[in-house]
Amino acid sequence: MHRIMNVIRRMTVIHLALVGSLLSAADAPKRPNIVVIVADDLGYADLGFQGGTDIPTPHINSLVANGARFTNGYVSGPYCSPTRAGLLTGRYQQRFGHEFNPGGEGPAAAGRSEQGLPLSETTIANRFKEAGYATGLVGKWHLGSSPPFHPQKRGFDEFFGFLGGSHTYFNKGTASIWRGTEKHAEPTYLTAAFGREAVSFIDRHQANPFFLYLAFNAVHTPMEAEAVSLDKFAAITDSQRKTYAAMLSAMDDAVGKVLQKLGESRLDENTLIFFISDNGGPTMRGTTINGSINTPLRGSKRTTLEGGIRVPFALQWKGHIPAGTVFNQPVIQLDIQPTALAAAGVEINPEWKLDGVNLLPFITGKATGSPHETLYWRLGKQNAIRHGDWKLVQYDLNVESSPTKEVSQKKLYHLTKDIGESVDLAAQYPDTVKELETLWQSWDRQLAKPLW
Ligand code: CA
Repeated sequence: MHRIMNVIRRMTVIHLALVGSLLSAADAPKRPNIVVIVADDLGYADLGFQGGTDIPTPHINSLVANGARFTNGYVSGPYCSPTRAGLLTGRYQQRFGHEFNPGGEGPAAAGRSEQGLPLSETTIANRFKEAGYATGLVGKWHLGSSPPFHPQKRGFDEFFGFLGGSHTYFNKGTASIWRGTEKHAEPTYLTAAFGREAVSFIDRHQANPFFLYLAFNAVHTPMEAEAVSLDKFAAITDSQRKTYAAMLSAMDDAVGKVLQKLGESRLDENTLIFFISDNGGPTMRGTTINGSINTPLRGSKRTTLEGGIRVPFALQWKGHIPAGTVFNQPVIQLDIQPTALAAAGVEINPEWKLDGVNLLPFITGKATGSPHETLYWRLGKQNAIRHGDWKLVQYDLNVESSPTKEVSQKKLYHLTKDIGESVDLAAQYPDTVKELETLWQSWDRQLAKPLW
């Protein structure tokens, strides 16, 4: 009898253990999906959630309504390719020589085929692929257009888009859009096509965790919009601004399609969605001027003033980040990789030497203090450092007056009191200048020479 009871007890234990393991498999939260949406050359002031009023962006706005808005969001470079190199590696791109734009596709790139994201670097796509995620890039690459740098050699299972720095929106039979390694003739307005392909990627991978990098070329030049979008902005009289508005509105529509698909697939509760611009709006001569507005910031794309490096920055993760969160401490696009990996349960290896920080504990209040005491920039002779509320900056004087290759003296601004960098306090606070200069120099010493 005793033996029988023991057998029954043991069977019950085994049975319970089995039921338990089945339950835990069913209850275990599925690893979250990651969607990183990047706009190109978007002005600081133009989205609704950034205070813009003339261009409705309800879908992009919904990300901050349902998640977090970062009021001090930065990128590590003032234009396209360096920022993307930082985004994909989670490291300051100047550490590995990716300080400037590489050559694009086409004749201008002749002799520059060796330029691209150095093969020594590991991308966020490599890491998610390693973790068992389906990985896809839809949109602009701009990290090298020759075969060794192809997105599908840098961790992406799938690629739909173009390899260079800019692209026409109406393809008119020209074939520089690629699906994988095959040329693709795209009849649709490019921004809408990228939305469609992002939706298709989500549809095909909804059963398993995925990482989707959706890199629009909107609202970068050429300024090309569809008539149906232009008609919405009859009230805007400036023709460039009107085209810009139509292009931004088309991008918002495409983001809306992606959000709708995530909702229909019941994935919106289990997906982190990042949104940034790759740099500030190009507003000065010598840049790809597009009609964007950076107020209240001073400066433009290509400068280390706030107008070049401070960008709209949003993160939605329903059920994890409270709706309507506003985060005021400085963050940078380098943080996207460690944040996304942490959400996916991937342990960050210190040997990866990431400069980014997992933002989640800071956003939810589990960690105190600031994710970054100090942020740094270098673009040739231009440079900047933000340390607390202070910024020491040396910027391209082209932004101010006649075109020159000269940079300013080092200027000191108190960003919390003076977001527009209008009052240089360097003479008044020499010790602060010295402190920030020393910090910047010690960072600068760690950097590589630019590769091109
Ligand atoms: Ca850009």
